[in-house]
Amino acid sequence: MNISFLEKDLAHMENLRLRRSLKRVDSPQGREIVLNGQRVLNFSSNDYLGLANDARIKHAALEAIQRYGLGAGASRLICGNMTPHEKLEAELAIFKNTESALVFSSGYMANTGIISALMGRDDIVLSDKLNHASIIDGIILSRAQLQRYPHVDMQALEEILKNRKGYKHKLIVTDTVFSMDGDKAPLKEIVDLARRYEAMVMVDEAHAMGVLGAQGGGRVEELGLQGQVDIQMGTLSKAVGCCGAYMCGTQILREYLINKSREFIYTTAMPPALAQAACVALQIIRQDNQLRRQLKDNADYLHKKLKTMGFDTMNSTTPIIPLLVKDPGRAVAFSQHLLKQGIFVQAIRPPTVPVNTARLRLTVTAAHTRRDLDQLLQALRTI
Ligand SMILES: *Cc1c(COP(=O)(O)O)cnc(C)c1O
Repeated sequence: MNISFLEKDLAHMENLRLRRSLKRVDSPQGREIVLNGQRVLNFSSNDYLGLANDARIKHAALEAIQRYGLGAGASRLICGNMTPHEKLEAELAIFKNTESALVFSSGYMANTGIISALMGRDDIVLSDKLNHASIIDGIILSRAQLQRYPHVDMQALEEILKNRKGYKHKLIVTDTVFSMDGDKAPLKEIVDLARRYEAMVMVDEAHAMGVLGAQGGGRVEELGLQGQVDIQMGTLSKAVGCCGAYMCGTQILREYLINKSREFIYTTAMPPALAQAACVALQIIRQDNQLRRQLKDNADYLHKKLKTMGFDTMNSTTPIIPLLVKDPGRAVAFSQHLLKQGIFVQAIRPPTVPVNTARLRLTVTAAHTRRDLDQLLQALRTI
C-alpha cells in the first residue's frame, strides 16, 4: 500500500496555513489552564459556567463510580441502561418542559443519530448554512435532500419552502446559537414558517443550554417557544461541564429513536457516573441564576470594550465572540502573539469557517474575573 499521498496532502495544508495540530493541557479546565507546559488565561473553552471542575459535580461522579463502577458494559438496549441514565433523562425532561428525553454519547452522535433516524430518501432537510458539521453529516447519512439556506435569511428560507414541493416530510434544522459566530437564530420566525409550510423544526442548543433563558433552558426558553419545537437537541459537554447530549421531545419520539437510531442502538451506554454528574450539573444550572448573570455581565463587558476598540465581532450577542481576521496565516500569528503574553485564544480557519473568514474565536465564561478580561483587552491592544 502506498500512502505517500497523505504526506503530500498534509504539506499542501501546511502551505495554506491550514494544517492543525494538538496542544496538551495538564490541568483541569478553568479560567486558567496549563497549555503545553505554560500557565495561560483561557479564552477558548465552552465551559461557560465553569462547571467542568466544580467540586459538587466531581463529588457526584465519584460517588456514582463507587456505586456503579466506571464502564456501562453494554449498550442501553442490552444491559447498559442504568438508573442514572433514566434519572438524567427525567431531569432533562423537567428542565426542558417536554414529555421525555433521550441521552446520546455525544452531540455529534445525537445530531447524526436523530436526523438519520427520522429522515429518508423522500424527504428534504432545510439547514442554515452555518449549522454545525454534525448536522450536515446527519443529513448526508439520512439520504434526504440537503438544502442549505443563507445564514439566518428568513426570506430565502420561505422561498425554498414555497418552491420545493413533492417531498414526503420537511425538516428545518438550526443551531440556536451559532458556534463560530456567536449570533442567535431567529427561532420565532422559523417556527412560524414551519407551521405555515407544514415542516418540522429541530434545534441544536449546544451553545444556548445553560446560557440563555431565565433558568438556562436555552433559546427555546428565552423566546417562550416551549411546545412549539418538535425536536430539541443539545449537549451536556459545554455549559453543563460534562460530556454527552440529549434529545428532548415527545414520548413517541423517544420510543422511535430507541428503536431506529443507529447512534443510540449500536454504541455502549454513557458511563453511569457521567449521567449522575450531569444530573447534578443540571440542578445547579436551574437553581443558580447568579452564574448565568455573571456570564452575561462578562460577555456584555467584552462586547462593549471590543466594539470601542474597533474589532469586527460580526453579529455576536453571546459569550462566543469572533474577532474577524480573514487571512488564516494572520489569525494563527495573532493567536501566537497573544500566547506569548499568557493568553490563549484559538484561531479558527477553514474548513471550520467559510473561506476568507478566519478569526480568533474568543469565549468568555462565568469564571473569568474582571481582571482577566482587562488583561485580555490589554493584550489585544498590542495586536
Ligand atoms: C459542540 C457542538 C456539537 C457537538 O457536541 P459534542 O458533545 O461536542 O459532540 C453539536 N452541535 C453544535 C452546535 C456544537 O457546537
